[in-house]
Amino acid sequence: MIHYPLQNRLPVDANGFYGPFGGTFVPENLIKNIKELDAEFRRHIADPEFRNEFDRLLHDYVGRPTPLYHSPFLSKQYGATIFLKREDLNHTGAHKINNAIGQALLAKRMGKKKIIAETGAGQHGVATATVAALLGLECEIYMGAEDIHRQRSNVMRMEMLGAKVISVECGNATLSNAVDAALAAWTDNPDNIFYLIGSAVGPHPYPEMVSRFQSVISHEIRLQLKEATGKECPDCVIACVGGGSNAAGAFFHFIDNPGVRLVTVEAGGLGMESGKTAASLSLGKPTVLHGSKTMVLTDFHDNPAEAYSISPGLDYPGIGPLMAYLAHTGRAEVVVVDDDNALKAAYTLARTEGIVPALESSHALAALGKLHFRKDDIVVGNLSGRGDKDMETYLSALPL
Ligand SMILES: *Cc1c(COP(=O)(O)O)cnc(C)c1O
Repeated sequence: MIHYPLQNRLPVDANGFYGPFGGTFVPENLIKNIKELDAEFRRHIADPEFRNEFDRLLHDYVGRPTPLYHSPFLSKQYGATIFLKREDLNHTGAHKINNAIGQALLAKRMGKKKIIAETGAGQHGVATATVAALLGLECEIYMGAEDIHRQRSNVMRMEMLGAKVISVECGNATLSNAVDAALAAWTDNPDNIFYLIGSAVGPHPYPEMVSRFQSVISHEIRLQLKEATGKECPDCVIACVGGGSNAAGAFFHFIDNPGVRLVTVEAGGLGMESGKTAASLSLGKPTVLHGSKTMVLTDFHDNPAEAYSISPGLDYPGIGPLMAYLAHTGRAEVVVVDDDNALKAAYTLARTEGIVPALESSHALAALGKLHFRKDDIVVGNLSGRGDKDMETYLSALPL
């Protein structure tokens, strides 16, 4: 069993700012609860008993460590040594469970009886419903009506797990509206509810908390690379970004090593000129969204705009403040991959390696073709999830 360090190695100040991004922009009556959450998080994450329980559940229940797989096909294709970090092999099929376990353990220790969460594609909803069942907590999931319609199988999974799925009808009835509804529910009843946010977004301390729970990914990459290659650090790490949690986890232990290239991959949707993208790092403006200041796609009135991507987990107009900061300072590179190239990368991986990636992760795979590597480069692509949920989209886009 691995003991994860979970230390804070993030460029965040005491007020939750990552350079110009982040902070705590919440209604007055939530301030007390946010402060309480911050204090409880710091107390428990330093507690060896909490840490042991987290380590043990990740090992026995989630199935960690996930493999670091050397891909012969991709290595040959792109002329470098390419590894895939197999977060798709986690229980429930994506990296989201790492964070859900951490926050649910915290909720339990804070004496909360009820967990609420937002979900877009349903992956975070399933992860939350799963840990709520495991730990005996009541669970409500806010989901846009449009997403409920598009992601039927995940809705059924949440119901099977005993969660109540609440349909959100306002706006375009997708993820962003679900976050608004969950924040409103928490604001109405902050003492009894724990809001379990699914990505490295939201008011401080959520982005830090989610990033630290997800840091297990890069901790394992270090151990596994050392074993496979003799070196702990790769030359390059690539991850797709929706809110930025799998990227935060995959980058975490390499952020302060400038020798490691960090590459974020955002969804270009139908193309950068189309007005139908989720490319908030490339096309966004600093704006307050869902409790923090970050890069946000905006409309003519500077209000948050609707995002679009074929991938339901990347279809969000904002991005977490850590990723906004890493891109702003040039520490992370930003690559944009559109729907078609993500689909092609998925077919290629399925047919050469026998792995069906999530549509989100396919964006990271497609980015391999847009980067230049030296022959002896060691590259890690974070395969954030598996593609079972995306089968209808994949098959309706065939033949390719
Ligand atoms: C939710 C999701 C993402 C996007 O979220 P991040 O917080 O940016 O990681 C990426 N991949 C998969 C498989 C997801 O389920």
